[in-house]
Amino acid sequence: MPLLSSRRHSPQLQRLLEQAGRDALRKGTFWIWGVQLLIALFLLFHVRVMQEMHLLVEHALPWQLSAQLWLMVLLLLLQPAIWLWLRHLSLPRWHQSVGLLALIWGCLWAGVIYALLKSELPGRSVLEPALAATLLLLGLIALYPVSRALYGFCLPILLGFASMLLLKTVASPLAFVASLLVLLVVLETGRRMLKNWFVLAVNREHEQRLMLQRLDALAHQDPLTGLANRRHFDQVCKRAIAQGVTLEMPLTLILLDVDFFKRYNDHYGHQAGDECLILVAECLEESVREPGDLVARYGGEEFVVLLQETDKAGGLQVARRIRETLAARALPHVGSEVAPHLTLSQGIAQWQAGETLTMLLQRTDEVLYRVKEQGRDGYGAA
Ligand code: GH3
Ligand code: MG
Ligand code: MG
Repeated sequence: MPLLSSRRHSPQLQRLLEQAGRDALRKGTFWIWGVQLLIALFLLFHVRVMQEMHLLVEHALPWQLSAQLWLMVLLLLLQPAIWLWLRHLSLPRWHQSVGLLALIWGCLWAGVIYALLKSELPGRSVLEPALAATLLLLGLIALYPVSRALYGFCLPILLGFASMLLLKTVASPLAFVASLLVLLVVLETGRRMLKNWFVLAVNREHEQRLMLQRLDALAHQDPLTGLANRRHFDQVCKRAIAQGVTLEMPLTLILLDVDFFKRYNDHYGHQAGDECLILVAECLEESVREPGDLVARYGGEEFVVLLQETDKAGGLQVARRIRETLAARALPHVGSEVAPHLTLSQGIAQWQAGETLTMLLQRTDEVLYRVKEQGRDGYGAA
């Protein structure tokens, strides 16, 4: 049964609605179960008092009214076992079963209302309308997420209440039928209103979640190049180091710095400098292959590549690929003293046992510094 569904909802929202609908119904049925038990116990007490006060018609029913109520209490006490069994059903089967359970509850209550009407002295039927209205209200609050369950519970109760017509305890049948119709209208409009609120609340939660996801992505991304930013790199790298400690996997870092970038900016302008950084980012992403590799903008014109499950030799291979990819793009750089095109200097270091991220970065930076000193446009490993 398509519950709380609408073709207008996205599949993600639809899934959330189904999940939230199931949660709401689970809590609602648990609550209504407890309240029904309370009402049944109260009715047992009420019937006993009425009997003692001789306010019930003797032998009005072929069975004992209190026995019927005890049976109701007993059946309600069995519910938790059924509930545990229901938990393992798929969503559609679960909805069907809850619908059936609600119908059984409704029929039991219809029987109780009928029995009460039949047993009370003529003209004293004041409890039944209140009982029926309370039960309908309970059904609305607890079962609104699934109309099948709601009506499965409420319609038998309304029919039980309508037996007042058969028992001829109604002064004006027309007014009575009108009151039943009003109850039905209240039930349906109430169900729709609650359902709309529910969808609205789930939708808001969904939107908030999406917004948080977007903000989270932004907080981990470099806006210029679209690469991961330093914060994200730090998190991933710390996790990788922790994994390296337990799994004894090699891990290698490459720290990269654009050569003579200040001169590039001075000569071609800041805008061209930005475009140049975007191109470098593209080259880096092209040059790494493993899904576990991470390219990040470390800051300014510095980048970092994290190579998981890769040793120093693997790092040297990636550095060579980066150098070749950038050289193939041949971005003119008249200010460079080492090449007619843009170049990078790269420092490589493999993580060693006991080393923190700061220590590893420091070692990588020292290699990078050495490469710079040795003339740039190259790479070296610690
Ligand atoms: P070296 O070869 O020794 O690395 O020299 P360099 O000029 O590349 O190094 P330096 O640290 O002197 O200059 C880095 C320049 O990078 C200075 C700064 O203005 C520029 N820069 C940093 N971030 C950005 C950016 O986001 N966009 C642009 N266009 N320039 C940036
Ligand atoms: Mg620099
Ligand atoms: Mg530089």
